Amino acid sequence: MTRYRDTYAKVRLDYIKENVETLYKKTKKPMVAIIKANAYGHGYKEVASVLKDESIIQMFAVATLKEAVDLRDLGVKQDILVLGAIPLEDLDIAIKKNISLALFSFDYLNKINEMHHYDAPVKVHLSIDSGMNRIGFKTEKEFEKAMEMIDSSKIDVEGIFTHFATADDFSQDDEYEKQLALFKSIVGNNRFKYVHCDNSAAMMFHHSDYGNLTRIGIAMYGVDPRGEENSDLKQAMSLYTKVAMVKVVPKGEKIGYGMTYTADEDQYIATLPIGYADGFTRANQGREVYINGHYYPVVGRVCMDQCMVKVDENVKPGDDVEIFGEHISLAKMAKEINTIPYEIICLISPRVERIYE
Ligand code: PLP
Repeated sequence: MTRYRDTYAKVRLDYIKENVETLYKKTKKPMVAIIKANAYGHGYKEVASVLKDESIIQMFAVATLKEAVDLRDLGVKQDILVLGAIPLEDLDIAIKKNISLALFSFDYLNKINEMHHYDAPVKVHLSIDSGMNRIGFKTEKEFEKAMEMIDSSKIDVEGIFTHFATADDFSQDDEYEKQLALFKSIVGNNRFKYVHCDNSAAMMFHHSDYGNLTRIGIAMYGVDPRGEENSDLKQAMSLYTKVAMVKVVPKGEKIGYGMTYTADEDQYIATLPIGYADGFTRANQGREVYINGHYYPVVGRVCMDQCMVKVDENVKPGDDVEIFGEHISLAKMAKEINTIPYEIICLISPRVERIYE
């Protein structure tokens, strides 16, 4: 196989399946597999292909109509939900492809009614804003008004859901409890086919047992939602490159754009063919990568396509480099660059080939 580049991400689809099974054992509830943002960088078509025959997976959820349509065209039979707004000029496509939409505001509801030119109803999940102030109806009054408007429309309410803002943060448990209580009170005694609120953190750490589906993203990819190490899960993605060049930089010479690093002795410097255009951001300056059993720091600024690492005489061109994976967890990397693992994996750019195992 021609790879064109030495920088690639390895994705263990078997780990994703194992994580799904591990998580399912906790609640025994069918899951919505969150595969938006290209399945958090893992490849949504590939992830859907291994999960589309799993009975545990009741539904796939994505962020865009394009992702949803691609899944149908791939032969996905499960329910498919788009979690955010779609351009309503495309409403008929969603209906024809049997794709459910989040319904999150009165304005959107009115526009759906205006744009609905098709015989079949549009399936929606009512989005309840229980405290995050992102999308959704906020109060019982708003919910009731929305239900009344829906009554006289071609909208079929298939489900209702909310999203927690703090389920991953134990210091804000009270906020989580408030959100859950509000969601429960809005759902009240109304009956819906699907009621869902638990994301990975809520499902793993709160055990509320409310709702009949869980909505799982990050944990399915083997990453702890709090950004901690977690031996119950298997991290599905690893990122690798190979050393392109090694040279000795004499004492006093500087390295990279802005010349921010000065060699304080004659130093072996390796150049790696990975940079911020791959998602290896400039925040990685000073962090370590793993080569031949040792950790070496990135010196100088990370360039668009390349970066430099301070190594020793044992490192040679062609040696394998782990950016994250078995020896450097996403949890560790995220802490070091002051972000969350979600962001690191979502930013691995399309030009980094995914190799599936
Ligand atoms: N549900 C909604 C509405 C989301 O936006 C997300 C992720 O952002 C998830 C579920 C999945 O969350 P997690 O990846 O933390 O499981």
